Amino acid sequence: MPDRIQVLRELLKKNGLDAAFITGLTGIRYYSGFTSEDAYLIVTEKRACLLTDFRYTIQAKEQSPAYEIIEFGRGALYSTIKDILTAEQVTAVGFDEACMTVAEHTKYTELDFTWKPFSEALHSPRVYKCAEEADCLQKAQKLADSAYAELLKRIHSGMTEKEVAAELDYIGAKLGSEMPSFETIVGSGPNGAMCHAVPGSRRLTKGDLVVVDFGCVYNGYHSDMTRTFAVGEPDAFSRRIYGIVLEAQQTALGRLKSGVTGKELHNAALDVIEKAGYGKCFGHGLGHGFGLQIHEAPSASPLSKDTLTSGMTITVEPGIYIEGRLGVRIEDCCMVTENGYVNFVSSPKELLYIE
Ligand code: ZN
Ligand code: ZN
Repeated sequence: MPDRIQVLRELLKKNGLDAAFITGLTGIRYYSGFTSEDAYLIVTEKRACLLTDFRYTIQAKEQSPAYEIIEFGRGALYSTIKDILTAEQVTAVGFDEACMTVAEHTKYTELDFTWKPFSEALHSPRVYKCAEEADCLQKAQKLADSAYAELLKRIHSGMTEKEVAAELDYIGAKLGSEMPSFETIVGSGPNGAMCHAVPGSRRLTKGDLVVVDFGCVYNGYHSDMTRTFAVGEPDAFSRRIYGIVLEAQQTALGRLKSGVTGKELHNAALDVIEKAGYGKCFGHGLGHGFGLQIHEAPSASPLSKDTLTSGMTITVEPGIYIEGRLGVRIEDCCMVTENGYVNFVSSPKELLYIE
């Protein structure tokens, strides 16, 4: 693992800052290893401090040995921050403006330093996953693949979407997932046309296609996959739509390697869907990065300005959504390499059906 305090110090130099002040859980975890809330990092040229309260000091010492652990007393957070920055003769402080409320921002800026927004630079190293991070992502996806295979054995027509989602979350937890990557999506029949369907009381019915989008978390790292299956033998129309989405996904995956832009990747999938006559039924971006958060940079979409390079993660998730009728999405989560990609997902992609 690269020395992330050193990475941060280089970012400070590059951005003309004397200190970084990190408030968001993701940034704190990335730069220090600390995994709970109510913590703050202050990193200067000489010091790396993790501020937390009495409840978390033991955990902080264990998880963040490279940091000085500083306990702040009740109501003493702002004065503790001020004392450290003053002692270090700091002028310009880069702060994580994307992870702060307006009320907090007001209080910080009352402290007498020059506060500069720093989120973009601060989070930029996260886009490249090191070997340890790739390993965690792979393990998270392995849990998800196992959970999905087990789910297909357990579910049947007549179950509600909510029951399917609960079953999947339970299986994932039993297998070792820290938590679901996000609220599990289960959309059956016409509900599948809602890309982010919230599982409800609709029962799986013969003739449905069912979209299941979910992920597992391993050591803080999130996986993300979608599969669409049928209830009972799928009809010709379901097969046709499924086939188009699968071809779109495989076409995009065929383009995925270092140097492709997010826009090109999106368009590769869109072309297939458009040629089949369903261009208007694919209204979201093709994919997103994933890691400590489920949605991270880079993105693959019509508006993306990103070029995907080796070490970045990206999902490839085209879909066709037909209101009142059905939805199909197939999603894999991948890591970009020089000549292609590693697909973390191993669940089959042919159209399976349950009874
Ligand atoms: Zn997903
Ligand atoms: Zn996704």
